[in-house]
Parts: sequence; structure tokens; C-alpha cells
Amino acid sequence: MRKVSIQTRYERLAAEIESVCREAGRDPDEVVFVAVSKTVGPDEVAQAAAAGACNFGENRPEGLLEKQPLFSDAAWHFIGNIQSRRIGDIVAHADIVHSLYQQRHADKIDAAARAAGKVQDVLLEVNVSGEASKSGLAPDAVEPMLAHCLALPGLRVRGLMTMAPQGDLQRAKASFGGLRELRDRLKSAHPECDDPAFMHDLSMGMSEDWREGIAAGATIVRIGRAVFDDAFE
Ligand SMILES: *Cc1c(COP(=O)(O)O)cnc(C)c1O
Repeated sequence: MRKVSIQTRYERLAAEIESVCREAGRDPDEVVFVAVSKTVGPDEVAQAAAAGACNFGENRPEGLLEKQPLFSDAAWHFIGNIQSRRIGDIVAHADIVHSLYQQRHADKIDAAARAAGKVQDVLLEVNVSGEASKSGLAPDAVEPMLAHCLALPGLRVRGLMTMAPQGDLQRAKASFGGLRELRDRLKSAHPECDDPAFMHDLSMGMSEDWREGIAAGATIVRIGRAVFDDAFE
């Protein structure tokens, strides 16, 4: 038996996110709570959905393809490693891709999106902290990548995503602040992009550091264990 149901865990977190937003002087409606369902199956997704979850995150195409059609009213966020041969599947099932950092993948997403008659929302993944174990663009490689993406009509760049160093909230804060500065700089460098969604989003913060993410301006938090893992306190 679980100690606490997924429904209760989700509801508690949603309430806590709201109060952390208010403490930070932010409107809770500005922050999207993505329940990262990569470790669970459709039954657990259904329990979160019953508690009000309407955004889910998957890091593998298999999980996205299995669960998205069952919960197609929800928005599905692809947050994992992109492989070229799975791009058609990802574009067919993801509302937004958080983990784009290679030009050749941008080209393939553009082609797949145009073939499907859609514009694919994407975020550019940035390795703000510079850890060798992390994927993503180096901060000074984001500008040329953005310029490349802006020439692709099948893509809409909605913002930036990062993963903070784990186990050190001070370093997490620093990398979230760095991502925000970069987003602000890139947005003002492209006044010709008048779509309000352009470079609006900051996807930053997970189970252990979402509070710091919201304080630093996150518009999307990606929370897995705190929703679905009964052992996570
Ligand atoms: C798994 C994952 C998350 C959620 O992590 P938790 O620590 O379980 O909240 C967020 N973002 C990405 C990219 C992930 O792979």
C-alpha cells in the first residue's frame, strides 16, 4: 500500500506551487506544473489526471507513444534525449519538446512538423552549469542555434530549458538565474519576433529544486518523484 495516494500528492504539490508563487510575487497562472510520468504507467497517470494534472512529461519516445493517445486532452512535454530516427514519432505526439540543442535535430523536427501540418513548439536546452555529464548548448552557443531555428517555419522557439546541478541549491539558483538572464537577452535581441510566446518560457526546476526555479522566474516546472514516488519526502 502507498502511504499517500498520487491524487493527494499532486493536490498538495499544486497547492504548494501556488503558495510559493504568491510568496515570490508571481501569478500562479504563469507557472505550468508538468507531472513527469516517465517512471509510471497509465494507471498512475489517470490518478494524477483525476487530481487535475493536465500536463505530463516523458523522456522516452516509447512512453510518449504509449500514454499520450490515452490522455490526449492533456498537453505532453517531451523532455528527453532526441534521437533522429524517433523525431517523426515525437512530433506526432508531443505538444512541446524541451530538449532541443542540435541543429540537425532542429532541421528534422522542422521537416516532420511541416509534413504533419503543424508548427512544433520547442525549448532550447542549455547546459548553464557546464557540467560534463549534462547535455545542452553552452550558453554562448544558444544565440547561433536560435538564429538557425528562427529560419525554420515548422518550429516555434518558446524559450529555454535547463537541468540544475543536483544536491546543491545554491548552484541550482545560480544556474536558474543564468538561464533567465540569457532568455531576457535573447528576447530583447530579437524585437522582430512579436509572437508573445517567443522566448517566453523558462523550463527549470524538478522535485528537489522547483521552489528555487519559481523564485528565479520559471514558467514551467517538471516534477516527477514528488508526484509519483511514495518514498520521496
Ligand atoms: C526525470 C526528469 C525530471 C523530473 O525529475 P524528478 O527529480 O523526478 O522531479 C525533470 N526533467 C527531466 C529532463 C527529467 O528527465
